[in-house]
Amino acid sequence: MYDVEKIRADFPILSREVNGKPLVYLDNGASAQKPKCVIEAVTRAYSQEYSNVHRGLHYLSNLATEKYEAVRGIVAKFLGAADENEIVFTSGTTEGINLVSYAWAAPRMQAGDEIVLSVMEHHANIVPWHFLRERLGVVLKWVDCDATGALDPQAVIDAVGPKTKLVAITHVSNVLGTVVDVKTICHAARAKGVPVLVDGSQGAVHMPVDVEDLGCDFYPITGHKLYGPSGSGAIYIRKERMDEMRPFLGGGDMIKEVSRDEVIYNDPPMKFEAGTPGIVQQIGMGVALEYLMDLGMDKIAAHEAELAAYAGERLKGLNWLGLQGTAPGKAAIFSFTMEGAAHAHDLSTILDKKGVAVRAGHHCAGPLMEQFGVTATCRASFGLYNTREEVDTLIEALELAHQLFG
Ligand code: PMP
Repeated sequence: MYDVEKIRADFPILSREVNGKPLVYLDNGASAQKPKCVIEAVTRAYSQEYSNVHRGLHYLSNLATEKYEAVRGIVAKFLGAADENEIVFTSGTTEGINLVSYAWAAPRMQAGDEIVLSVMEHHANIVPWHFLRERLGVVLKWVDCDATGALDPQAVIDAVGPKTKLVAITHVSNVLGTVVDVKTICHAARAKGVPVLVDGSQGAVHMPVDVEDLGCDFYPITGHKLYGPSGSGAIYIRKERMDEMRPFLGGGDMIKEVSRDEVIYNDPPMKFEAGTPGIVQQIGMGVALEYLMDLGMDKIAAHEAELAAYAGERLKGLNWLGLQGTAPGKAAIFSFTMEGAAHAHDLSTILDKKGVAVRAGHHCAGPLMEQFGVTATCRASFGLYNTREEVDTLIEALELAHQLFG
C-alpha cells in the first residue's frame, strides 16, 4: 500500500512554510526534494567516510571507493542494464549527452549525415547536436508532435533514412508530460541499424525503466530529479557503443599509464570518467535510487497516474486556462498559460504567494515553445510525495490569479 503521508514524512523540507503557507512543491520537473536517507548519507559520507576514490590505499580511501563504486551496480539495477560496466558516472544528463555527442557521434559523422530529433527535446538534447551541425555539417531532422503533444512513433521511424546516424529522443517531455513510445522507436531504428539515445531525465523519474527491454543504446539520467543530490548522474551505454567511443575528458582515473610519448587508457567505463568525480553526490544518488526501488517504481507510477488524472480533470475545468499537452497517458507534468491576461511569470508569482512552487519560462525547450506558439508557460510537475489536496491548493491559487488578472 502506498502511504503518501508516511512518504512525505521522509522529506523534511515538505513540512516547511513558504510565504506563510504550507509548501506545495510542484517544481519536481526542475529538481526534486531529498528524503532524509539521502541527506543523512551525504552527511555521513562527509563526516565519517570521506576520502578521494580509486587512488589511495588507506582505509578511508578504500571505504569511499567501495561506497562509490557500489552505486554503479545500483544504477544498473535501477535501469535494468545487464552489466554495471555499461554505466558511466556523469554530473547529470547534460554531461551524459555531451559525452555521447563528443565521444561517440563526432568521430563517426560527416557533412550531410542526419540526427533525428523530436520537437519536444530539452536544450540538453539539442545543443550538443547543434555543435555537430556547426562543426561537421550534420543535418538535424525534426519530428513534430501533434496539437495534444503526442508524438507518433511511426513519424520518428519514417524520418530515419539512409543518412541517419542517430535518433535522439526524450522518454518524457519535461514541458508537456507526454510519454513517448520509445520502445517502438528503438526497435524499429535498431532494425535499420541506427542507434537511439533516449533522454531519461524525466522518464526514469516517473516509471520503471528497463533499458534492455526498451532496446536503446544510450539512456542518460540525472540524480537531482531522482531525489538525489545535484551534480550526480549516470548514463547507460550499450557495450557495443561504449567500445566505439573515443575518450572524452582527459585526466586522472581515465588512464592506465601516461608517459612523455604515449597514453594507455583505462578500460570502460572508467575511460570516460576523468578526474575526481562527484564522490558524495553519487553515493547520495545511490541511496536515492535504492529508496525509489524500495518504494517500487511501479507503485510510484500508479500514484502519479492517479494524481495526473485528477489534476488533468481539475485543470480542464478551468475553461479560461490554456493547457498545453493533453496526450493520453501523460506523466504528471502540466503546462498552462493565461494568454492575454497574465504572463507566466506573474502567474507563478501569485501561486508562490499561496505557497505553491511552479516553474515559469521556456523550460529549455525552444523548438516546442515555437510549435505551440507561446514564449513561456507555467509548469506544475508532480512527484512521488504530492497529494490530491495539493492539486486542490493549486486550483484555488489559479482561481485567485484568475480573479486578479482575468
Ligand atoms: N532533458 C530533460 C528532458 C530535462 O528535463 C532536463 C532537466 N530539466 C535535462 C535534460 C537536463 O538535465 P540536467 O540539467 O540535470 O543535466
